[in-house]
Amino acid sequence: MEKTTDIASSGLSSSTNGQVCASGSASSSCTMAGTARSGLIFQEAFLWEKSREGRCAISLPKQDVETSLLDPELTGDAPELPQLSELDVVRHYTRLSQWNFGVDSGMYPLGSCTMKYNPKTNEVQAARPGFTGAHPLADEDLSQGCLELIYNLEQYLAEITGMDAVTLQPAAGAHGELAGMLAIHAYHAKKGHQRSKIIIPDTAHGTNPASATLCGYKSVNIQSGPDGILTPEAVEAVMDEETAGIMITNPNTLGLFEENIKQIAEIVHKKGGLVYGDGANMNAVMGIFKPGEIGIDVIHLNLHKTFSTPHGGGGPGSGPIAVVKELEPFLPVPRVEKKDDKFILVDDRPDAMGRMLTFHGHFGIMIRAYAYILSLGSKGLTDVSKLAVLNANYIKASLKEDLHLPYDRPCMHECVFTDKFQSDYGVTTLDMAKRIMDYGFHPPTVYFPLVVHGAIMIEPTESESKETIDQFIHALKAVVTEAKENPDILKSAPHLSKLSRLDEVSAARKPVLRG
Ligand SMILES: *Cc1c(COP(=O)(O)O)cnc(C)c1O
Repeated sequence: MEKTTDIASSGLSSSTNGQVCASGSASSSCTMAGTARSGLIFQEAFLWEKSREGRCAISLPKQDVETSLLDPELTGDAPELPQLSELDVVRHYTRLSQWNFGVDSGMYPLGSCTMKYNPKTNEVQAARPGFTGAHPLADEDLSQGCLELIYNLEQYLAEITGMDAVTLQPAAGAHGELAGMLAIHAYHAKKGHQRSKIIIPDTAHGTNPASATLCGYKSVNIQSGPDGILTPEAVEAVMDEETAGIMITNPNTLGLFEENIKQIAEIVHKKGGLVYGDGANMNAVMGIFKPGEIGIDVIHLNLHKTFSTPHGGGGPGSGPIAVVKELEPFLPVPRVEKKDDKFILVDDRPDAMGRMLTFHGHFGIMIRAYAYILSLGSKGLTDVSKLAVLNANYIKASLKEDLHLPYDRPCMHECVFTDKFQSDYGVTTLDMAKRIMDYGFHPPTVYFPLVVHGAIMIEPTESESKETIDQFIHALKAVVTEAKENPDILKSAPHLSKLSRLDEVSAARKPVLRG
């Protein structure tokens, strides 16, 4: 790549017609695929390095009162701040923001994460002064609107899951799992016989065994069958009266629907156990399948996945749990209840597990989820799931000649490939994931789920158009062709990003945090 000026970066060499070409690559690697990006990724110095004596972004009126130091100890030295013009500051932060990649900049097909588009109206609603100005310690009488929102959202989520009661307190999916497992634990304790084990299939999310362990349960691992789903026989073989229940992710982490779920729930219930449903993948089944109707006793949802809240980067999440009647007494307090047209907070619940979070949970996320549910309605939510499943199956069908498909059957909201075909050329999943960035796409999830060697897990979500999905498919096909014809270009990819291939271990262990 040619060096341009100082500030122009290593970044992107964009050619005409929206084509994207890799640096140093033969022109044959230029393709129409990819979100055609053009322009430059700027290098950006620290504000201190750009500082010049006397430069200033504001002009305050001349001081016409005597200086008075609030702290007599102060010497009067001004704090050492960079001196910059307004334009310096605007460009600095704008450039930094351009280093980010988010769903607002392009397709983000990160399987298991549901990186769907978050409609901006949700943000507008969450920013209303009535909500942002509300204080969680304000009296019930002054909080009726907020309490009503919590109450109604709980009802909607109960309806969507087919369950009897919901709490919005947990702060994330894994936190919801903990709340759900605490409810199962409390249920067995109340019955007078605590149990010691939980069944966890190999397709479970890694947080599942962690949540079970936090409640003192030992995980009993079972393997899914040849189709990538659980067999009733595998559950029957380990279920006993010392087992508190099973944790099932449905659709599972292979993106497949657990078709035997009803029979499995019956096996577990017969021996007095309960069924925990990991509902993080609810985006595939809203309006189509109600977990409460097929024997699931408690399920968590990820509002920051299915219900369109921005997520990633460790930002706040929300992982409500929905439960059957038998588990309702154990839900965390306070509960929001409705009494004579008034919403009240109820603490007096002797069997409650206590609090899972301060105040009422992450309220801002609840507003976004509420706005999302109200704006789509039940038909809209059902369409979301249908489209999410259609899009994933379209990708699966379009790429199955190019990438090895370990489970060739209809998938739900995501599909899982591997790097088996490419291993002949010494190309791995990681190489392909890095290379797809040069085509303007965030990489899919890699090396997860663990049951699939070299997994590439793609979740397009419902929000991408056919044109964008076609571009993505085209880009992956181009990467697959490169893997065969020019594997070196993959080995050193990405070429067009701000930084090229990092040493993954050093990047994690010895991060260089300077620009
Ligand atoms: C994302 C996810 C979780 C964990 O949710 P967090 O909000 O990240 O804690 C649990 N299970 C499954 C299947 C998931 O996809």
